[in-house]
Amino acid sequence: MEKWRAADRLLKFSSRFASGTKLTCTIINYDHTHPLVSECCFFPIPFYCCKSKQGKYFYSVATTVHRNPLFSIISPDDISYFKTLLGERGVVQDALALDAANTDWMGKYRGSSKLLLQPKNTEEVSQILKYCNSRCLAVVPQGGNTGLVGGSVPVFDEVIINVGLMRNILSFDKVIVSGVLVCEAGCILENLISFLDDEGFIMPLDLGAKGSCQIGGNVSTNAGGLRLLRYGSLHGSVLGLEAVLANGTVLDMLGTLRKDNTGYDLKHLFIGSEGSLGIVTKVSILTPPKLSSVNIAFLACEDYTSCQKLLLEAKKKLGGILSAFEFLDSDAMSLVSSTTFLGTENHGQEVIKDKHGQDFTSIDLRALPLEFWYSYASGSIFMENLEAFLLHSVESGLVANGVLAQDINQASSFWHIREGLPEALMKAGAVYKYDLSLPLEKMYDLVEEMRVQIGPAAKVVAYGHLGDGNLHLNISAPAYDDNILAKIEPFVYEWTSKNRGSISAEHGLGLMKAAKIHYSKSPETVQVMASIKKLLDPNGILNPYKVLPSSLLSQN
Ligand SMILES: Cc1cc2nc3c(=O)[nH]c(=O)nc-3n(C[C@H](O)[C@H](O)[C@H](O)COP(=O)(O)OP(=O)(O)OC[C@H]3O[C@@H](n4cnc5c(N)ncnc54)[C@H](O)[C@@H]3O)c2cc1C
Repeated sequence: MEKWRAADRLLKFSSRFASGTKLTCTIINYDHTHPLVSECCFFPIPFYCCKSKQGKYFYSVATTVHRNPLFSIISPDDISYFKTLLGERGVVQDALALDAANTDWMGKYRGSSKLLLQPKNTEEVSQILKYCNSRCLAVVPQGGNTGLVGGSVPVFDEVIINVGLMRNILSFDKVIVSGVLVCEAGCILENLISFLDDEGFIMPLDLGAKGSCQIGGNVSTNAGGLRLLRYGSLHGSVLGLEAVLANGTVLDMLGTLRKDNTGYDLKHLFIGSEGSLGIVTKVSILTPPKLSSVNIAFLACEDYTSCQKLLLEAKKKLGGILSAFEFLDSDAMSLVSSTTFLGTENHGQEVIKDKHGQDFTSIDLRALPLEFWYSYASGSIFMENLEAFLLHSVESGLVANGVLAQDINQASSFWHIREGLPEALMKAGAVYKYDLSLPLEKMYDLVEEMRVQIGPAAKVVAYGHLGDGNLHLNISAPAYDDNILAKIEPFVYEWTSKNRGSISAEHGLGLMKAAKIHYSKSPETVQVMASIKKLLDPNGILNPYKVLPSSLLSQN
């Protein structure tokens, strides 16, 4: 086949790679612009869960969290107030809409809210919060509801506030301070990406959920995503924001300056606080210029150590033009290639065809491990750097095998391998998922120790954003089993803590890990966080039961 013959180009680099064992695969991406990396999990915990009619499991919080009795229950007078304030459109009580807003993306967490409010501007957000605070009505800020830790849905009957109608781009300055975008918090990430594309710029943030997630949600979760390696975290690129406190006070911190050292930089409190301190209503963000070239290599290494060394080499040789460095281990690769996930019959996802009409992805997956590797030179100026890097990596034995995408379709098919993992895991049965930051040199030790710890009862599958030191650890079992869970937790949290990692690399704490924060933060730090929460939200109405342990917040 033509495309395999094209592999000769890379083959010239070395005659070393052969049919060796492929243990680890790495995706290196230069400035990719593709949607990718679904992060999903289906994480029922048997004795906490019940099964719905749709076959989904819902986390029942009743056994772990108790409704705060100080919170009021919504009354007809409250509904009348909100209708007067927002009009009929802004007050949603429809059962179907509420069902969707009460259920998280994974189908893992489910609340029972009877009210969804949709304000159209900051003033309305302010009035809503002021009223809720005076009535002691608990609220949940919700964006695109793509969060993965149970933070975006109510736990009980909290009022859901979604700023999705606030979706105006307010300004874009590409002349004076190059690339500063100011927009309302309800803008969908993908729409911002499209807008900027027309202007010759890109968002410093990209993630698989971009078609649904809102910039307000991204900021509130301090989302990491696929460009963090190159453009850094939102703590760096968000220049300012506007947020509404629990009592309705509007904090205007919507600066567009690169430098401003006038006192405490309060905007950082709202970046990553998951709606527990205020509702983000506007965002000012620095966006980089669009780059002309996108090249992706999909490489096989013989072990994790080679993969890790490859990352260091890539950083040295490719420097700032490296935008993503992902990895998946051989169990992840076999899983994604052995499931029928890539077929059309599954989830309506299209099979990826090459230009000869062949199923590119499945050929690729089956062929790549032992006999093939594949390359294509696009002629981009960066391709020379990439080729030089690959030549060196192959000659030094770091890379055993690999393919280079020859066009955007093939590039996306590489990303589909990575993107297919979460769903492949769900298809394989029950999956326990952990999102961890760990020192690179220790990262895979956890995977191996977990394999020993779990034994044959479950399969341990690892992948993640290696370039950011972020491991997605998945324990895949035929069914949910208390014995398996008992082997995973608290082991995984203790191991992470002992190695000074973080129990949440990019997804936040939400409801899932609110009570586990002490594994990553000292008691003094958590205490200061609780004090800040109490100062800004004394009644605790904003996203209760999330982020911080409820026990701490109920203390005087
Ligand atoms: C397929 C898929 C891929 C993903 N990939 C990544 C990834 O690569 N990197 C990553 O970091 N995450 C990823 N995620 C997780 C998720 O998409 C991000 O956390 C995202 O930033 C959430 O945005 P959202 O608008 O959906 O927020 P929601 O899920 O609605 O809310 C998330 C949290 O933010 C709060 N919140 C939302 N809007 C506001 C607001 N305006 N003001 C105050 N608080 C608010 C909520 O209360 C909640 O605590 C992925 C999720 C999916 C489903």
